[in-house]
Amino acid sequence: MGSPWSELLANLAVVAMFVSVWIHTHVWLDRRPAPVKAAAFGLLMGAGAIVLMLTPMQLQPGVLVDLRATMIAIAGFFGGPVAGVVAGVMAGAFRTFEGGIGAFAGAVGIAATMLVGIAGNLALRGRRPSMADIMILGSAAACGSLIGLSVLPRSVIQTVLPQVVFPSSLLIFVSVAMSGLALYQERRRLEALQSRRIFKTVVETLPDCLNVKDLDGRFIAANPATAELMHAASAKALIGKTDFDFYPSETAREFREDELAVLASGIASTIEQHVHHEDGTDGWLATLKAPFRDRTGAVIGLITHNRDITERKRLETELAESQARLGDALTHMADGLVMFDSAGKLILCNAQYRTLFPKTADIRVPGTDYRDILRASVARGESITPPDAVEGWIAAIMVTQTHASHRQIRLADGRWLDVRTRPTGDGGSLSVFSDITEAKQVEAELLAANEKLNLLAHRDGLTELLTRRAFDEALAREFARGRRNATPLSLLIIDVDWFKRFNDHYGHPAGDECLRAVSGCIEATARRPADAAARYGGEEFALVLPETDARGAFVIAETLAGKVRDLRLAHAGSEKGIVTVSIGVATFDGSADIEIADLLRRADEALYGAKAAGRDRVHGWRPHLSEPRTTGSRRKA
Ligand code: GH3
Ligand code: MG
Ligand code: MG
Repeated sequence: MGSPWSELLANLAVVAMFVSVWIHTHVWLDRRPAPVKAAAFGLLMGAGAIVLMLTPMQLQPGVLVDLRATMIAIAGFFGGPVAGVVAGVMAGAFRTFEGGIGAFAGAVGIAATMLVGIAGNLALRGRRPSMADIMILGSAAACGSLIGLSVLPRSVIQTVLPQVVFPSSLLIFVSVAMSGLALYQERRRLEALQSRRIFKTVVETLPDCLNVKDLDGRFIAANPATAELMHAASAKALIGKTDFDFYPSETAREFREDELAVLASGIASTIEQHVHHEDGTDGWLATLKAPFRDRTGAVIGLITHNRDITERKRLETELAESQARLGDALTHMADGLVMFDSAGKLILCNAQYRTLFPKTADIRVPGTDYRDILRASVARGESITPPDAVEGWIAAIMVTQTHASHRQIRLADGRWLDVRTRPTGDGGSLSVFSDITEAKQVEAELLAANEKLNLLAHRDGLTELLTRRAFDEALAREFARGRRNATPLSLLIIDVDWFKRFNDHYGHPAGDECLRAVSGCIEATARRPADAAARYGGEEFALVLPETDARGAFVIAETLAGKVRDLRLAHAGSEKGIVTVSIGVATFDGSADIEIADLLRRADEALYGAKAAGRDRVHGWRPHLSEPRTTGSRRKA
């Protein structure tokens, strides 16, 4: 043994050597399971403890101390329970094997420092130990080894202890601190390495460009994405180069100006840059430029982060174009167009839509709820919905929004709107409103004209009774019905007496007037809906009375003749002095085997009879009169 100092240094060197071995070799065990690595650490530290026990320091003649406590405490503290137990058991076994007077005390000291190391590790709860923790460990390890000394025989304690306690504790403390510091630094180094590796991976796999340039615009660092964007062979190929080496000079100059602006202001900024590549292609970049500073805060370069937004720009342009086209279409369409979302909020409408509703145009804007618009429309007198039916009306309209519908609405000012609604894919609706007021007017006029035309076709112009043709149809219909139902049907033929003379005396217009008056009497007499009266020709009328037998027909005919008489229309050409009619009546009883022509002929014959009998009377057809005659065979009596 040399001087105490050289022994001390040798011991510290052993501690340092074992710690250093671990620092330089533990990486090999990184892929092994954690307990294996911990056991290996324990083995190494245990071996260190044994070596230290083999080379003790002699503080006083006969008083030997060593730094085993350092190795055992470090093993438990940095390696956890497994490493602590392995190192402790190795050291304890060796000390026991060595034997001697201090064997038991040595084992106790070893156990105590082992527990100190493991307890310290558990107390950390996975946290990275701080320098203070390591200092505490050093003190606790020193105390642990003192516990071993305390079980020495009393005689030994009294002679040795006072000389050993202080230097031994101090040495243990110092060596724990020294090796703890080394392991602590190693851990920090590993962590830094790890975070640098993560950072490097992120930067290299980042699809965005990230690079650093010096004040002159030369690349100091760049990731592969930057190289790809600049069409460079690799990120390394960029180092030391500038944008002028990769872009057309015009583009590079613009970029440089942007950079100089950031360098001058010292403030990070985001800009959009249009890129023209040497190969003629172009694109857009969203670029963040931030000043790069050294420790003192002085700007020494520029960090650039850019993202290729060519595709986004293209979509933006397309969107703007299609929106402009849509806007154009909406503005120029003749109809009003409106879109509501699924909640019933107006999201889009054109000016025409608002023009169609002048009283509520101010609220027919994006964001307004359709229900509120409808309420206002009623309140402001635009819609004709009665105020007490508003909510039901609104609910019905909201239902029409959910499916394809087509309706026509009338506004209070008389306008008609045609509304076509279609549901949209997102649960909303799209409606097109067209002003159809004019079309509606035309439609109404057309209807009236049609009715008039109908009247003209079926009604006689002078008397408005049925025309002969319409009458023939009505007669055929009623005759068939009578035959089918076996019900009677009567036919009256009415002829104005001495009418030629009336015309000759009073003139044709007065004759027309007279015919109108007679037709009025006919209509007033035949009141049943199925009764059909017609102007049969000239001053001759026909009246068909369904479900009327001969007696009933006779009564009606007499009533009619009376009504004409009661008109008391002066007739100078008649011996009666007034206008009178003669009526021939024929009845089909619903079963007789006769045709319409027979019925007409019989009525005509009866009329002839009435004329012959002196006019102003009703004659029914009687069989004895039925010798063959033609309708044109009537003679003046
Ligand atoms: P009666 O029947 O009593 O035997 O004598 P009548 O003079 O009425 O005889 P007839 O049937 O021959 O005369 C029909 C006349 O009715 C001929 C024509 O001058 C007149 N007449 C026919 N149609 C019209 C008409 O639309 N307007 C007018 N004013 N006269 C008509
Ligand atoms: Mg006549
Ligand atoms: Mg006549």
